[in-house]
Amino acid sequence: MKYDDQLKILVNSVLKLKGIKDQKILDAFMTTPRHEFVPENLRIYSYKDHPLSIGDGQTISQPYIVALMVQLLEIQKTDKILEIGTGSGYQTAILSKLADEVFTVERIDNLARNARKVLKKLQITNVHFRVGDGTKGWIKAFPVCEFFDKIIISAASPEVPESLINQLKDGGILILPCGSRIQQDLIIVRKDGENNTKENHGACSFVPLIGEEGWEN
Ligand code: SAM
Repeated sequence: MKYDDQLKILVNSVLKLKGIKDQKILDAFMTTPRHEFVPENLRIYSYKDHPLSIGDGQTISQPYIVALMVQLLEIQKTDKILEIGTGSGYQTAILSKLADEVFTVERIDNLARNARKVLKKLQITNVHFRVGDGTKGWIKAFPVCEFFDKIIISAASPEVPESLINQLKDGGILILPCGSRIQQDLIIVRKDGENNTKENHGACSFVPLIGEEGWEN
């Protein structure tokens, strides 16, 4: 089956049935060719609803988990989003279609370089890349972007990194997988002055967030 047909099945039969209702999000998936982000030897699996290896011990996230996290973020077209863990750049591409600007940080240089190449090929121009420890956020985005409207962490953290909460706008939303290295819960943090509220959206499993405010290694 052609990639286009497989993509239609992924969006219309898998994501919709699993509860992704926002048409803007479904459209973003429909216009993002996931096979471009997958290594050649795994491309036949690109439109299965599974994570896949992208090398360097890392993975491209499962489409449904990307869609769920993006839906929970309640993204507005004017939003500036900080993404920690660029990985393949697939989720970055989805975010770029829903928000104003995306600032993405990846600790592995090779992955960041590949992601940048694919996004360039897809003519996506509202993404800023940085290589480094994303647990400290993106200080250099200031004052271009004083605080982020939304922050998405796509690697598992033992706790919510304090530096990232500090870079979130009041009224903003941060989402992350939080828990052990093996199993986490998908947590939403809503920033409300000094009183942040947390919601748990169920079990998930991600590769570890490695850095000063994540896991040591
Ligand atoms: N959502 C991505 C995609 O669609 O391809 C996959 C992200 S992958 C599950 C998690 C990524 O987080 C990995 O590429 C890993 O190298 C990165 N990572 C882990 N710790 C990090 C840190 N402190 N700063 C930035 N990136 C980090």
